Amino acid sequence: MSHVTSLSCILCGREHAPSQVLYTCPSCGPDGVLDVLYDYSALSGKVFPGKDVFSLWRYKDILPVEAEREVPPLRVGWTPLYAPQRLRATLGLSALFLKDDTVNPTASFKDRASAVGVAVAMALGKEPITCASTGNAASSLAGICASQGIETIIFVPETAPRAKVVQLLMFGARVFTVKGTYDDAFDLSMEATRLFGWYNRNTSYNPYLLEGKKTVSLEIWEQLGEKVPDRIYVPVGDGCIIGGVWKGFEDLRRMGRTDRMPALVGVQAEGSSAVTRAWETGVLPEKTDCSTFADSISVGIPRAWRQAVRAVKETGGEMITVSDKEIAQAMGILARESGIFSEPAGATAFAGILKSHRAGTLDSASSVVALVTGAGLKDIDGAARACTSQAVSLEPHVEALKEAVREGSLRHS
Ligand SMILES: *Cc1c(COP(=O)(O)O)cnc(C)c1O
Ligand SMILES: [Zn+2]
Repeated sequence: MSHVTSLSCILCGREHAPSQVLYTCPSCGPDGVLDVLYDYSALSGKVFPGKDVFSLWRYKDILPVEAEREVPPLRVGWTPLYAPQRLRATLGLSALFLKDDTVNPTASFKDRASAVGVAVAMALGKEPITCASTGNAASSLAGICASQGIETIIFVPETAPRAKVVQLLMFGARVFTVKGTYDDAFDLSMEATRLFGWYNRNTSYNPYLLEGKKTVSLEIWEQLGEKVPDRIYVPVGDGCIIGGVWKGFEDLRRMGRTDRMPALVGVQAEGSSAVTRAWETGVLPEKTDCSTFADSISVGIPRAWRQAVRAVKETGGEMITVSDKEIAQAMGILARESGIFSEPAGATAFAGILKSHRAGTLDSASSVVALVTGAGLKDIDGAARACTSQAVSLEPHVEALKEAVREGSLRHS
């Protein structure tokens, strides 16, 4: 497979040949998640050849993909890195950036992982593909698979926002809404893979998904003029995104393109903070709640907690938590001051920046990036909780309009 040389177990360090292993380390079992390693010396010094490809496939050389036919046609990645002037001025952060992944084809960051996962499935001739998801991983998988004509079978908790389930059905996925939590849906999807041999897209299990997620780091690095920012804030549920962000910079380092890493700050909801506990104590808490309106990061048993903790520790970052109220406020500020409408989890990294800023721990000149990971239309009920104004009901007459304008009823509450 392209430049992939081996799959290295994060627990025991053993290296496996890509042709020998499908998912996790045979010695360590499901916890033995594998890092995908490349022939870095062959890649070092090379300019990324895909400079004129405006998607994540500009990094095809350092992705586990070979043939053109495996690459799904939907345009994933190469998303904007905004320098939001009004927010910068309001907050006094002169080098704040927003990485807007709401513009991916199915409207979330998850498309990065799905695009690469589906390409690998195509290469291996695996079908159908299954996954468990709080919603976005599934709708993303279903959308990308629809573009390639591959069948998908999906497990989501029955509490998944309606828009995400409808999105799945529109893409033609077969959908199970599990009467339980995301954690229950996850266990069922794993069982289904064992029982029926369906190809499994779960990011913390299938080693290639993280490779898609890492492309966000390669993009940030390029968009900043081949520079590494000081801090990147990342929303954390299972911990795969932050693990992927780390992997992207680690690959750049191994290729000799940089010698520094950004401090990675993982941001969780107070009501779903198992990774934060694991970062503090070194072990995963036995049983934790997951109660937050940010459904995409509502995870009781974070499957990629080891990768998340490694990402934070090795970069000198930290894990922090924010309340649902702080997330809702961040959604509103982000929408009004930058024009990016995000779902609750999508604004959680930015909520973390606001919190650090209030605490005075952010240097005003340091370069800080917030990942905005999912679009607001995916969860209208969540967005409604973040609205600070109301629409004004109006009789269809200009007199009524004049009256309303005189009363000043159009102002924000
Ligand atoms: C999945 C998701 C996250 C969290 O990613 P993990 O890999 O579970 O930590 C954050 N935001 C959005 C919008 C997501 O869909
Ligand atoms: Zn192992």
